[in-house]
Amino acid sequence: MFNIILFGPPGSGKGTQSEKLVMKYRLKHLSTGDILRSEIYEQTALGMEAKKLMDKGFLVPDEVVIGMISSLLDANPKAHGFLFDGFPRTSAQAEALDKLLQLKKTSISVMLALKVGEEELVKRLLKRGQTSGRPDDNNDSVIRERILEYHKKTTPVADHYKKENKAIMVNGEGSVDEIFKALCKEIESRINEIL
Ligand code: ADP
Repeated sequence: MFNIILFGPPGSGKGTQSEKLVMKYRLKHLSTGDILRSEIYEQTALGMEAKKLMDKGFLVPDEVVIGMISSLLDANPKAHGFLFDGFPRTSAQAEALDKLLQLKKTSISVMLALKVGEEELVKRLLKRGQTSGRPDDNNDSVIRERILEYHKKTTPVADHYKKENKAIMVNGEGSVDEIFKALCKEIESRINEIL
């Protein structure tokens, strides 16, 4: 199996690039942000609880997202690879993911980390907020809170994969196609050893 983590701060382009990568490499896309938003849309109990935190820019509890990922891994036994987008976002989530994949006799092949400057992130998120309808993109202080959460809780996840020599930095500024090409280049230089 070929399992990718697409990593980066809010607004770094994970969603956009994920769509293109899953098409090209026929991976199953697992985006915790998308799954949580669909729970909110369907007004489930989980969604309602998550919304309170997401609207303020905070992370939802580890148990909640780990449980979601665990059931999706089980629900897709035939997938020939997963692309994790927005997960893992804490060290506890990274450890849980390692264990879940180990149970399936597989592991993370590579973590691709998109690097984007902070002012560019805020600019992109505010622009997305004008059309996305996402309440967490509409407010400058919520955006800053999300970036703070990222620095506090999510950056240690990169160290987790650096230790295993699996973390690769990719420039996340430039055109969508330029960034996509850079990601594909990294994937293709590894794909042979992985498959
Ligand atoms: P972005 O990376 O653009 O901020 P996402 O769509 O990935 O947006 O996530 C939106 C929100 O959903 C996050 O701010 C957080 O509250 C919640 N969320 C998504 N994934 C996770 C996760 N793995 N752990 C905890 N909270 C999460």
